[in-house]
Amino acid sequence: MKLYYLSLLTLGLSAAEKPVVAVGGIIHETNTFNPRKTTVADFETGIGGSGILRGEDILRESELANSTTSGIIEGARRYGLDLFPTVQAGPQTIGMVTRETFESLAGELLQRLKAAPRLEGILLTLHGTMVAEGFPHADAEVVRRVRQSFPKLPIIVTHDYHANVSQEIIDHSTVLITYKECPHLDARERGLQAARIMADVIRGKVKPVQVLVKPPMLLNLVFQNTFVDPLKSIVDESKRLETNPKILAASVPGGYQWADIPAMGPGVIVATDNDPALAKREAQRLSDMLWALRDRLVLNLPDPARAVAMAMKNDRFPVVLMDTGDNIGGGSSGDGTFLLAELLEQKAPGWVVAISDPEATEAAFKAGVGGSFDMPVGGKTDKLHGEPLRVRGRVKSLSDGRFIEPEVRHGGLRYWDMGHTAVIEADGSTRDLSNFLLLTRKRIIPFSVHQLTSNGIYPQRQKILVAKGTVAPRAAYEPIAAKIIEVDSGGVTAVNPKRFTFQKANPALFGLK
Ligand SMILES: [Zn+2]
Repeated sequence: MKLYYLSLLTLGLSAAEKPVVAVGGIIHETNTFNPRKTTVADFETGIGGSGILRGEDILRESELANSTTSGIIEGARRYGLDLFPTVQAGPQTIGMVTRETFESLAGELLQRLKAAPRLEGILLTLHGTMVAEGFPHADAEVVRRVRQSFPKLPIIVTHDYHANVSQEIIDHSTVLITYKECPHLDARERGLQAARIMADVIRGKVKPVQVLVKPPMLLNLVFQNTFVDPLKSIVDESKRLETNPKILAASVPGGYQWADIPAMGPGVIVATDNDPALAKREAQRLSDMLWALRDRLVLNLPDPARAVAMAMKNDRFPVVLMDTGDNIGGGSSGDGTFLLAELLEQKAPGWVVAISDPEATEAAFKAGVGGSFDMPVGGKTDKLHGEPLRVRGRVKSLSDGRFIEPEVRHGGLRYWDMGHTAVIEADGSTRDLSNFLLLTRKRIIPFSVHQLTSNGIYPQRQKILVAKGTVAPRAAYEPIAAKIIEVDSGGVTAVNPKRFTFQKANPALFGLK
């Protein structure tokens, strides 16, 4: 009898003794051309998600979402891991992260890791192009510190597709995996993959080795849609490689061109099960495929005036205008007015523009529903995204700006908070076709059409929708758009690199000059 109990106890213990793996990270895409630095308060505000999460809140936020952490949670369940949630900051994207902010967040991450009663592995969800004061490759600095404190543990890093990867971060991590898709629809899948590899490493089933190869080129964001060629065939090839059991992960990040750092540019990372020659050969082959594309990457986008005229002339609607210069997900102000100015100037009918402008939003709240609105909007954050523009109209609705995105969209966020939000029905509207200005308190990445529908705007009934982004909003807008036009608008995320002066990036990169 005693023995019987003992064996039950042993069984019970072994079932409870799953390997414990920490999860957490800092997600920041740093636009070094944006003079506005990023503080802890900016991380807390976020650009759509829930700011800084700690402990169990990380799991609660991601359980029903489609993010990397959502995939890690599912993977932990599937592959028998216990998660130890630490701290998760972001996503955020503005200018350089202040030293104080970096030390505070990286310090907290490390502190929480050290406080874990027991750890068999660490999963770090990082963006891959964070630049902090003193740390041009801040993601590598995070991993370096974690590696220093946990020299023997497997550290698996997940990155965004827009990661600028360096040899340093490859050296400090056990495996580094980036999103394969842009728009990023595979965030959850990559989290699942990271958890699976982690479980196999802990159980001694695989011994990862990884190789990075970087082609000396810039892969302009305009060409980073991985769902169409020329990139699709390369991404498909990286997915095919992973069907080889010797290849643990094959990543082809496109890089992020507004971080002026030595690591800027695309890359290929292949991690194999203890086969460095295979990793090297395949990484070089995929890198050669990227390099071979270079002559096909020719920029030719209409300016705002031409783009609005093209949209008005189109025979099917809605037409989506991608405001590439004010790409909020790329670190811009979100209050750019170049396209709004053209819509007003050309008296375009049935447009929708979202602008982040706390002052104008609060003025609309003060006026109340049905009240009149008449004031300059946008162009208030910096001098790079157009002048404030006078908009006259009527307050149509006011809301708390919260909504849910249940579908898989860029990045996989579920819970959104725009802060106070007002819809202005602008002058020029008719009974059948309105011009809508959506004013939000916070800068919000346009990755969900529920940003509009939750405020009573039906995008399918409109003629022209402006989305402040380049590729990422496609996941939300392609299902409803009759046509998408990328617009060569000015701003800190302008797609033409010749508008910027690079100092730290490799000057020999093809496409930079
Ligand atoms: Zn990205």
